[in-house]
Amino acid sequence: MSQTLSNEIEQEVDKRRTFAIISHPDAGKTTLTEKLLLFGGAIRLAGSVKARKASRHATSDWMEIEKQRGISVTSSVMQFDYLGHRVNILDTPGHQDFSEDTYRTLTAADSAVMLIDVAKGVEAQTIKLFQVCRKRGIPIFTFINKLDREGQSPFELMEELERVLGIRSVPMNWPIGMGRELCGVYDRMKNQVELFQGNDHSTIEVREVEDYNDPIIREMAGDYLHDQLVQDLELLDVAGDPFDYEKVQAGELTPIFFGSAVNNFGVQTFLENFLELAPKPAPRMSTSGSVDPTNEKFSGYVFKIQANMNPAHRDRIAFLRICSGRFERGMSVKHVRAGKDIKLSQPQQFLAQDRDIVETAYPGDIIGLFDPGIFRIGDSLSQGSEVVFDELPTFSPEIFAKVTVKNALKHKQYQKGIDQLTEEGTIQVFYTASGFADETILGVVGHLQFEVFEYRMKGEYGVDIQLHRMPFQFARWIVDDKIDPSKFRINSTLVKDKKGNYVVLFENEYAMRTAMDKNPTMKFLETAP
Ligand code: GDP
Repeated sequence: MSQTLSNEIEQEVDKRRTFAIISHPDAGKTTLTEKLLLFGGAIRLAGSVKARKASRHATSDWMEIEKQRGISVTSSVMQFDYLGHRVNILDTPGHQDFSEDTYRTLTAADSAVMLIDVAKGVEAQTIKLFQVCRKRGIPIFTFINKLDREGQSPFELMEELERVLGIRSVPMNWPIGMGRELCGVYDRMKNQVELFQGNDHSTIEVREVEDYNDPIIREMAGDYLHDQLVQDLELLDVAGDPFDYEKVQAGELTPIFFGSAVNNFGVQTFLENFLELAPKPAPRMSTSGSVDPTNEKFSGYVFKIQANMNPAHRDRIAFLRICSGRFERGMSVKHVRAGKDIKLSQPQQFLAQDRDIVETAYPGDIIGLFDPGIFRIGDSLSQGSEVVFDELPTFSPEIFAKVTVKNALKHKQYQKGIDQLTEEGTIQVFYTASGFADETILGVVGHLQFEVFEYRMKGEYGVDIQLHRMPFQFARWIVDDKIDPSKFRINSTLVKDKKGNYVVLFENEYAMRTAMDKNPTMKFLETAP
């Protein structure tokens, strides 16, 4: 019996590919996601992609913000099968106003696809998301999109990846012409060409060739483009990094794919190569050591909590990444922090558009748990033992606002709201350390978090609040017992976080550098100690 269970889990783990697409808004993430789903014939969609989303949630209060701004507030999960793989795509908010949820979602991914606009190159949001993935050491695959447009040369882009992100790259395919001249890509690993035909490039022909010198390519692409291709690839063969599987797995080398999502160029080959190279769910660190996904005992952790998905019920959904074992509906697990056994028998949906209920799920999968208010971000659930997964990282806020309550009589509800919403990770809260004015300061990584906070304070706690933006841009945690607040007055201020740790907020990088120079023995940490 046990042998069969562990075999089953092992097989399921081998099949799983759980990843997130990281990009700057407008790079084409929605378009690429849609194409991937088409190949897979999605099984389950949580939230789905933009256009459909607007109509589906038209009646939802919670989605007001989304509707008004035409953006997707909430990360979602999409699942499909392709060539024997079960694919989980963790979607991340595509708007500039991403939030800490975006970052936390990345902790649930086993690899990332970095999507880059050929003309714009590496952009601000890509850098931030890349750094989070980098820290985790997960493999990062690059898709250079919009090749049908004029853009930078592939060599320039590779150079930019190295200069801006500090990562070496290895092109898996190479464009034959670019922009209006684009006629296909050469697959360096499989020695085949994919030719895009017709004015709208609607048909794609795949031809195996001897190598990039093959006259077939010349015939199809013409002398000029073929000469260019041969020249580029000869240079790459000599001067480029060789493909190194180990380095890719360690996140030190990123395989690059060129294509055009909207025209469906290179998307399928990308998907196939990616699924082969991307890692299956790996062991996860916990307080009791590394937990292997094939361990028969179920375990997982909550990486995101989402409120009011269903306007008829004020319920919340806790998103849980399964780390080991087999999830079965109705099973009993230990909620380790609460020290309680809980039965996962309530509608434990994988959150889908129609909230269908998942019966079984495996490591790498994400399930949505109905949450009557018992979960916090980072909570571990496990079967039979007290596995506690390493704490989720917190991220340094970059935008700050003072908060005041319009009606002083609502102070109690306000306090309750602040407590719960910080616990959920909607915002981070700080208090002035000077003592005389008891001010509350909120810190976030994206503006949207303020909007969500304001909206929920009113909707769920009946409290009208006012936010006053503050000029700070950086927060640094200080470990020092005898701190002197007067040291931090110029373009900075000293505050305390919820646990009483000292934090200095700085208006600009210069003020921060100066403070660091003046206090060489003090440690300035980007996140809470
Ligand atoms: P997101 O903000 O990253 O989700 O980007 P979208 O998928 O919404 O795409 C942004 C814009 O770029 C849309 O107008 C798309 O039609 C367009 N787009 C996406 N892929 C391509 C492509 O390969 N070529 C061109 N020319 N446009 C594209």
